[in-house]
Amino acid sequence: MKQKNLQAIIFGPQGSGKGTQGLLLAERFNVPLIGAGDLFRAEMSQQSTLGNLVSQYVTQGLLAPDDLVDAVVARQLKKVDLSKGYILDGYPRNVEQAMHLDKLVKIKLAVQIKISDDEAVIRLSGRKQCVKCKTIYHDKYAQPAKKGFCSLCGEPIVQRADDTEKVIMQRLKAYHLLTAPMASYYRQKGILLTVNGEQPIQYVFEDIINKIAKLGFLP
Ligand SMILES: [Zn+2]
Repeated sequence: MKQKNLQAIIFGPQGSGKGTQGLLLAERFNVPLIGAGDLFRAEMSQQSTLGNLVSQYVTQGLLAPDDLVDAVVARQLKKVDLSKGYILDGYPRNVEQAMHLDKLVKIKLAVQIKISDDEAVIRLSGRKQCVKCKTIYHDKYAQPAKKGFCSLCGEPIVQRADDTEKVIMQRLKAYHLLTAPMASYYRQKGILLTVNGEQPIQYVFEDIINKIAKLGFLP
């Protein structure tokens, strides 16, 4: 089978480890990992009309509307070298955005990382962060040497305001409502790849690699 350029998006709920997997995939395939957040920061730093609009939403902690998000992605993607392939993380977040992306670039693979809500809550609500150096710990998966204190700088570690169970449940609900339907969209196109995210990081990664090798993508 002819080798294909990895032109992929990766999506999954918070806590699924999609950021980590995106990074690992980008390294293995030697393609850029393009985070939606990076595109937004680039637009804002240019202080364009669009960028200033985005800033208004960000500073108020609001989600920018689809048309604004689409416009920023369209502008910023043009500035990235996509010729050797890429992995997009954080965009699209809903089917409308997925349809918009199809007008901009050719997507050949959509990687969906699945975890249950219960697991997402355990992973996210157990997170603690050092108040000083911002190192992340976890009650179950990454405990500090001394309970309640950072192993690196000795300062207290605390739960972040957006990691409470209530906020996590709200985010998961939004994910199921808006983002999860993208799975059907990409399945219909025949490019959906789903992996079980409730395994150690290395197993999830091997799962993805094995599955995409069968589809003709080789590093
Ligand atoms: Zn610290």
